[in-house]
Amino acid sequence: MSTIASLSAVRRVPAAVNEPIKSYAPGSPERVELKARLAAMANERIEIPLIIGGREIRTGKIGQTVMPFKHSHILADYHMAGPEHVQQAIAAALKARQEWASWPFEDRAAVILKAAELLATTWKATINSATMLCQAKTAYQSEIDAACELIDFWRFNAQYAQEIYAEQPANGPGVWNQLEYRALEGFIYAVSPFNFTAIGGNLSSAPALMGNTVVWKPASSSMLSSYYVMRIFEAAGMPPGVINFVPGSAGPITNTVLASPDLAGIHFTGSTAVFQSMWKTVGENIANYKTYPRLVGETGGKDFIIAHPSADPTAVAVAIVRGSFEYSGQKCSAASRVYVPQSLWDEVRDRTVAMMGEIKMGDPRDFRNFTSAVIDRKAFDKISGYLDHAKQTATVLAGGGCNGDEGYYIEPTLVQTEDAGHRLMCEEVFGPVVTAYVYPDAKWAETLEVLDKTSPYALTGAVFAGERAAVREATSALRNAAGNFYINDKPTGAVVGQQPFGGARASGTNDKAGSKSNLTRWVSTRTIKETFVPASDFTYPFMGEE
Ligand code: NAD
Repeated sequence: MSTIASLSAVRRVPAAVNEPIKSYAPGSPERVELKARLAAMANERIEIPLIIGGREIRTGKIGQTVMPFKHSHILADYHMAGPEHVQQAIAAALKARQEWASWPFEDRAAVILKAAELLATTWKATINSATMLCQAKTAYQSEIDAACELIDFWRFNAQYAQEIYAEQPANGPGVWNQLEYRALEGFIYAVSPFNFTAIGGNLSSAPALMGNTVVWKPASSSMLSSYYVMRIFEAAGMPPGVINFVPGSAGPITNTVLASPDLAGIHFTGSTAVFQSMWKTVGENIANYKTYPRLVGETGGKDFIIAHPSADPTAVAVAIVRGSFEYSGQKCSAASRVYVPQSLWDEVRDRTVAMMGEIKMGDPRDFRNFTSAVIDRKAFDKISGYLDHAKQTATVLAGGGCNGDEGYYIEPTLVQTEDAGHRLMCEEVFGPVVTAYVYPDAKWAETLEVLDKTSPYALTGAVFAGERAAVREATSALRNAAGNFYINDKPTGAVVGQQPFGGARASGTNDKAGSKSNLTRWVSTRTIKETFVPASDFTYPFMGEE
């Protein structure tokens, strides 16, 4: 138990503002710095240990992180955890919790806010370079994710946490009521996806900010950037054991974690099938846990764009190109099914195909490229399987090619189908493939209904329309079809603090990453009633004689 007294002060964290996005335009200082860092990091081959209780652990069982756009190039060798290391990480988290959970919030927040400042300054080029090299993001896609979104998560979470703690109940006469926002009893398991560096940094740190301690399993294919995020936590003064970095095989690590009676929560982002499998295991183990684990998961999507006959065809085409092909369609929010009225189709199609003709794909170190390779062999095989299926059962209007020889390249592809229930209209492809269905103008209302019922997901979606009545109708008919709904804008690019992000149905628990609702999942409230002058008589007035 710490005997250090806290400050006698009501402290306020600095008001959160979104980190400005740098342009990386030719001649800008950030471009010069990033290019130099990219060159230096491409020449390194680093070794990534486990980090448990602040100690580096080398297991000797090695996995490799490569450049997706040049897969013969190894960026890092990472050590993989076995069950005994997972047990050590759980023990380290439980030990660290004894101190960390009782730290004043402001001190925990200071660590996270310092991490944000480090990332905004000295660490920015490193994190962006790692994300570009290991996840094949362009400079801009990396800047908005690995740098700005993560900085925003950290700053806004600190502000939201402060607002949560300030929410206190009403008081009766002679009574002081208080809510104490306790950390959950146990540890949190954070499991992050490959596609956003920011998500790994948030899944691990949001529960920690609220006083919890964490076992973090990063995705294998984003190991380099996740490792540097872990190094930022350390540089920011995060005490050992608060976040434990445990790379390795997902299945065995997860089985060990979920068998622990001390599991207090799962903070997951990734595919629907994996989240459902974890939920199932938790259900099977439910009687063994000391507390009901909180399950928070943001999962897959089948994100849509629907255009009304009153829509601007150019705006629709731009939304299709940016929404479907940026980061090779590997955003959970990427548009992958499009509904266009017959009257607009020729123009939307021609403009889309023309823009696609200008897209350059290649090594992200060449800043002229708009996209790069998909993440790994598994993704490449899966997406090329969908392309084969499209060629046999639908019409490929543009793209359709793939080549995995040097890097895992899949061409941005536009498919047209006459079947609104086609597999490519229902299933998550998670690649640069978008499928269009053309509907008769008179069937706008029916098409909204078809869209709503076509896929199990409900993550993001966009309506394009000039007529307000059409916007109203779509907003109402698609109320449950998307957790993030866009009007005359592409369905990607949510900004922390502005468009809290998350979907429902098979897309997740919709706890909205980077919001107050998410942070409330990581606390268990204790209500404290204090009566200043206790009653001295057990009887009540109504019991008196008439
Ligand atoms: P994934 O499900 O393959 O992997 C996510 C994480 O789960 C990784 O750390 C992985 O190692 C781990 N994992 C894999 N198998 C596991 C198992 N059996 N048990 C436990 N953990 C396991 O997803 P991905 O390919 O990294 O990311 C893409 C998916 O994530 C897409 O479905 C995308 O829609 C989704 N995603 C959703 C959001 C959102 O906010 N809704 C954001 C980003 C990504």
